[in-house]
Amino acid sequence: MKASLIEQVLGNDIEEVLVAPEDIQVKVRELGQQISADYIDKDLLLVGILRGAFVFLADLIREMGIPVETDFIAISSYGSSTTTSGVVRILKDLDDDIEGKHVLIVEDILDTGLTLNYLVKNLSSRRLASLEVCSFIVKEGKQRVPIKPKYFGFTVPNKFVVGYGLDYAQKYRNLPFIGTLRRSAYEDNGML
Ligand code: 5GP
Repeated sequence: MKASLIEQVLGNDIEEVLVAPEDIQVKVRELGQQISADYIDKDLLLVGILRGAFVFLADLIREMGIPVETDFIAISSYGSSTTTSGVVRILKDLDDDIEGKHVLIVEDILDTGLTLNYLVKNLSSRRLASLEVCSFIVKEGKQRVPIKPKYFGFTVPNKFVVGYGLDYAQKYRNLPFIGTLRRSAYEDNGML
């Protein structure tokens, strides 16, 4: 079932695979080990940004050798399906009080940086012990605000990518790689 899905999208929808599943696995392991070492004696709370970060976060915590807590924040950004306006609305806030905690925001992709900039400002006002960012992907040449994630996985060219949690019109999140979309996969509804 899984193999046929991948064959189907590789044949029809995906133009290019930018990051292969094996490379993702190696990188997530490295990040898990590095973050574990950095927070070894601290209470760490990982805050995943829904929806895109859930796949990365789920893999990341299983590569970590220290106890961690997880929570999620769901946001919606005003703008088209593929560009961010920077105006962000919180759809679901964190469940628990985070005052005094060491917080690591876990994001799928850093594009303009406007979303993370908003979240960093919002969470900073909650009197944390520390706040850092881990973005699995950083898009080259797109940042409009100076956000530097302490941890990141891969850089990709300035193209719209899907897979490993990242969607187009809510599809493709379950692909085990990061890739670019073929024009035919989106031209029918004219959204890109
Ligand atoms: P930013 O505020 O940094 O411009 O955008 C961050 C959010 O926009 C990401 O969390 C993601 O939801 C969405 N986004 C930005 N670039 C891409 C992309 O290439 N592919 C997908 N699927 N989503 C993207």
